[in-house]
Amino acid sequence: MNSLDCIFCKITRGEIPAKVVHETEDLMAFFDINQIAPVHILVITKNHITSVNDLTLENASLIGQMVLLGKQLAKEHHIEESGFRLVMNTGKHGGQSVFHIHLHVMGGRQMSWPPG
Ligand code: 5GP
Ligand code: ZN
Repeated sequence: MNSLDCIFCKITRGEIPAKVVHETEDLMAFFDINQIAPVHILVITKNHITSVNDLTLENASLIGQMVLLGKQLAKEHHIEESGFRLVMNTGKHGGQSVFHIHLHVMGGRQMSWPPG
């Protein structure tokens, strides 16, 4: 199911351009418009899921595929060995700004912990 007003659904429909780096039957990956690291890619589901809060056991394989694609992209963008971070911001306190589930794949510089 797609959501008419959702910015990431618009990207999946080709209504908003994105620098797509990978696509599968269920997932799409593209560069974040605001690169906060030398490598910063978003992995999204093609179907609209609002956030981690909406996941059920039925989505287990899909979420597994997202993490595995994150790992593959890290390798393809040469940050596998130096290290990288996979993040799913959820809700207000989690810092989520786009309410269509996505996995940030970030690397190419030292990440700090804890995040702000
Ligand atoms: P969140 O803050 O929800 O975890 O992450 C949303 C991310 O989507 C942000 O890092 C933001 O820069 C990115 N973003 C928002 N709008 C667009 C867009 O139109 N295109 C792309 N490529 N990224 C976007
Ligand atoms: Zn959406």
